[in-house]
Amino acid sequence: MKVMKFGGTSVGKPERMHGVAQLITRGDEPTIVVLSALSGTTNFLVSISNGLAGNDRSDAKQKIDQLEAHYQQFINDLLQTDTARQKARTQLAEHFEFLNIILKISFSEALNKDILAQGELMSTKLFSVYLEEAGVEHVLLPALEFMQIDAHEEPQIGSIKVKLSQLLHANQGKKLFITQGYICRNSKGEVDNLKRGGSDYSASLVAAAINASVCEIWTDIDGMHNNDPRVVDKTVPIEQLSFDEAAELAYFGAKILHPASIWPAQHFNIPVKLLNTMDPEAKGTVIQQQAGSVGIKAVAAKDGIVAIKIKSSRMLLAYGFLRKIFEVFEKYRTSIDMITTSEVAVSLTIDSQENLAEILKELEAFGSVEIDENQTIVSIVGNEIAQTPEVMKKLFNAINNIPVRMVSYGGSKHNVSLLIPAAYKVETLQLLNKGVFGL
Ligand code: ADP
Ligand code: ASP
Ligand code: MG
Repeated sequence: MKVMKFGGTSVGKPERMHGVAQLITRGDEPTIVVLSALSGTTNFLVSISNGLAGNDRSDAKQKIDQLEAHYQQFINDLLQTDTARQKARTQLAEHFEFLNIILKISFSEALNKDILAQGELMSTKLFSVYLEEAGVEHVLLPALEFMQIDAHEEPQIGSIKVKLSQLLHANQGKKLFITQGYICRNSKGEVDNLKRGGSDYSASLVAAAINASVCEIWTDIDGMHNNDPRVVDKTVPIEQLSFDEAAELAYFGAKILHPASIWPAQHFNIPVKLLNTMDPEAKGTVIQQQAGSVGIKAVAAKDGIVAIKIKSSRMLLAYGFLRKIFEVFEKYRTSIDMITTSEVAVSLTIDSQENLAEILKELEAFGSVEIDENQTIVSIVGNEIAQTPEVMKKLFNAINNIPVRMVSYGGSKHNVSLLIPAAYKVETLQLLNKGVFGL
C-alpha cells in the first residue's frame, strides 16, 4: 500500500480537487489518501477561536458566515448533479451548526481543538462526495478512530497500527481510502491535533503504521528547494535527501514539511517523496536512507528563537553544572536547539516563550542570566559538510557582515547552525544563496 498526502493548496480549489482525484486513481496500488483542510480554512478557524476566546462573538459569527458562504460556492463549483450538491450541503451543515452552537458556550482549550478539527472533517467529506459522484469507489477512514497521541502529545504508533489495521481489515478488498490529516485524539479521548502543518506528520505516521511502500507528500512546489522560496528569488529543487538531512531542514524551518514528519518514515525506512500537484511529472525530492551526494544541500531558517546566557564563575571546573541547567529545561518540557559553552558561561536557545519567566527565575540560582529575544537560527544542511573545510570558508565569507550570535558546528555531520538577530534573516538567506549556492 502507499500513502498520498495532499496539502491545503492541493485541495483548495474545486479544479485542484478534480486533479487530486486523477492522481490517486492513476495506479493499481492500494492507497491511503491523507487530506488537509482547504487552504485558508484552518487560519479562519483559528481566528474564529480567537474571537471566542477574546469574547468577540460578533466577529466570530461574521467569520463563520463568511466561511459557510465560501463552502457553498465551493460545492456548486466542485459538483455537477443536484443530488451530490444536496448531499454535500447536508453533510457540511452539521459542521456549521456546530460552529454556530459554540457561539453560545464558554470557550475552553478542548473546544478550541474541536473548532480547529472542522477543516479536515469538511474537506474529506466534500472530496468523498465528489469521488462518489465521479463513480470512484472508496472508503472514508475517520482519523479520530485511529490517530492517537499520549499525555505528552507524542503519537502512539503501536496503537495507531492496531486500530488502523482493524479498520483496513474490516474493509478487505477495498483499494482506496480517504482520511483526515492533522486531527487526532489525545490521552483524555478528546479531539486534538498534531500542530499546524500536521497533515505531513499524519501521512508519515499512517505510512509507518501500514509499512507503506512510499509516503508521497503532494504540495504546491516541486520538492524541497535549496533555500526558502518565500524569501529568496532564485531557488532550485533538490533531487535526493537523506532522512537525517530532511529532518534537520524540516525541524529548522523548511515549511514544506512539518518539523516532526520525518521520524516515523525514517524509523520504518519508508521513502518519502515531495511532489507537485500543479506539475505532477516534475521529479520532486526523494527522501531515503542515502544522502545521494556530499556537500551543502540547503539552508532553512527558524524564527521566534530566544537565546539565554548563564554566566557563572562557579562553572569553572565544576562538573554537574550543565546537568543542573538542563534539568530546569526538562522540568518545563522545553527543548534546547543550540548550545555553546565557554569556561565561565553557557549560551543556549529555545523556540518557545511558554515557560520563559519560570525558566529564567530558576536559572538565576546558578549565575547571572541574560536573554536575547527575536533571534533566528539559520541552518546549513548537507551530507558530511562538517568534514568539508571548504564549506566553512565559503559560508563565513558569504556572510561576513552579519552579526552572528552563536555557531553550532560538529554536533552532527550534516548541519552547521548560526544564530542571528531576526532582522538579518532575509539578508543572510540571500547572501548564502549567492555565496554558497552561486545562485
Ligand atoms: P501544504 O499546504 O501542501 O502542506 P505548505 O504551505 O505547508 O503546503 O508547504 C509548501 C510551501 O513551503 C511552499 O509553497 C514554499 O513556499 C514553502 N517552503 C519553505 N521552505 C521551502 C523549501 N526549502 N523548499 C520548498 N518549499 C519551501
Ligand atoms: N490544516 C492544518 C493547518 O493548516 C494542517 C495542515 O495543513 O497540514 O495547519
Ligand atoms: Mg504543510
